[in-house]
Amino acid sequence: MTGVQTCALPICFPVTISGTIEHMNRTELQAKLEAKTALLWEEFCEMYPTLCKFDAPKIVINGRFTKTAGCCEVEQNIVHMGYKFFAKHSAVMFAVILPHELAHQVDYNLNGLPKNNRWHGSTWRKIMVEFGLEPNPYHSLEI
Ligand SMILES: [Zn+2]
Repeated sequence: MTGVQTCALPICFPVTISGTIEHMNRTELQAKLEAKTALLWEEFCEMYPTLCKFDAPKIVINGRFTKTAGCCEVEQNIVHMGYKFFAKHSAVMFAVILPHELAHQVDYNLNGLPKNNRWHGSTWRKIMVEFGLEPNPYHSLEI
């Protein structure tokens, strides 16, 4: 992964929700993430019909991430989700981090690479707001 194509999410906003997936193995988690991604992607496609010609990103569960909850390699159409965050923050991972990363892919598909490496610029923020999400680039999830 290179820094250029990747949105990494370090620290910031306070998170109080916590879910647990202690009993969910990686295969089950992968299936759940893919199902949720398909649903979210459909919603994005309804909002932006141009998106219909693009496939939803492939989801990769990354076991090494310790600071990055999620990232999107837009040119590869791949979203990485940090496995270690799911144990304590499953709900946030699904409700906040996954849509955040998908919004990067939507932004790229519709608008191309961001200027000056501004991954959380105006086009990305507009997508987040239109989707009903806080356009916040950071998280404060601790693992
Ligand atoms: Zn981001």
